[in-house]
Amino acid sequence: MTRVFDEDLSARFATRTIHAGQRPDPTTGAIMPPIYQTSTYVQDALGVHKGYEYARGKNPTREALERNVATLEGGRHGFAFSSGMGCLDSLMKLFKSGDHIVCGENVYGGTFRLFDRILRHFGLAFTFVDTRDPQRIEDAITASTVALLVETPTNPLMRLTDLAAAGDIAKRRGILLIVDNTFATPAFQRPLEYGAHIVYHSSTKYLNGHSDMVGGIAVVLEDSLAEQLQFIANAAGAVPGPMDAWLTLRGTKTLALRMKAHDANGRRVAEWLANRWGAERVIYPGLPTHPQHELAKKQMAGFGGMISVEMGSRDAAAKVLNGTHVYALAESLGGVESLINHPATMTHASVPADMRAKMGITDGLIRLSTGVEDADDLIADLEQAFAGL
Ligand SMILES: *Cc1c(COP(=O)(O)O)cnc(C)c1O
Repeated sequence: MTRVFDEDLSARFATRTIHAGQRPDPTTGAIMPPIYQTSTYVQDALGVHKGYEYARGKNPTREALERNVATLEGGRHGFAFSSGMGCLDSLMKLFKSGDHIVCGENVYGGTFRLFDRILRHFGLAFTFVDTRDPQRIEDAITASTVALLVETPTNPLMRLTDLAAAGDIAKRRGILLIVDNTFATPAFQRPLEYGAHIVYHSSTKYLNGHSDMVGGIAVVLEDSLAEQLQFIANAAGAVPGPMDAWLTLRGTKTLALRMKAHDANGRRVAEWLANRWGAERVIYPGLPTHPQHELAKKQMAGFGGMISVEMGSRDAAAKVLNGTHVYALAESLGGVESLINHPATMTHASVPADMRAKMGITDGLIRLSTGVEDADDLIADLEQAFAGL
């Protein structure tokens, strides 16, 4: 298998973001991997080719991205997809009718929608639980459970799952642990080190970081899982085009830099919000008032730029959402630019109202994706938007 990253793994994280998985182009020496914009590859003779036959199966630009991110996550095999949801849909093809999956209840709205509105009809069963409590995970596991899927921190409530505990449960019960690492990124958290079998991302977000493509990527350690995923990726075909793979690869080069800046700005903005609006209303794992702050410090090397704020009412939320100028009102997150969003009607509209209410995704909740602009400008922006509240 050519997807194994065969370079020096001793290089430190920031060095790997820039170099891992990439070699100068053998034809010209171009330092950046070319965008191999091709659907097929000419063969030397019948049955003789260079390892590339058709681009659904393999593309060199995509392979460079896959090796790069696999290395960053501490894995051995990466598989890039056309979107985060395309990635998750392909991962679910590891399973069969009758299989049961335990899933965090506060996962990305689209994850819930894919499971509840589509995959259920194919005979997969899902139980959604509050994975903050390992006992609840344990209690939800049945004889037909094949996997535990968690997102940590969650979107938008910033709830954490204890990765060491989840890894331990998965090992003891003989099920796969699948972790959505979109929010923390491997710069801050590497689930494979805690026993996760599959870590995946919406690379649309922090990995790419520039809000100019949609993509997904999964990373695994085990060769047997990699073989299955390689088969699914080619057979089901939810693969990205080379241009999007290339953009993501350009993005990952600055991942270490960007995450440091998101984290520094996130901390400053969260502190300002806590002082201005009340610490109990600001949800950020980096604040000592976050109920899982100790766990966050233990399993995350930084807290990033995602902050949720309970404004108390839809009107107060609307005032801030409509009042910011630097924070732009938009779905998505993880780009260099700051965004602000209303989960109940935007990113989490696909979650049924009763489930939203049960979890605490109220009409007054707003979510900030803090970018890497100057923190003083971000705080000045929020100051004027909060004026009068
Ligand atoms: C955006 C997102 C997804 C879905 O990814 P797409 O690239 O939009 O398909 C999955 N998980 C999380 C945590 C996300 O933020």
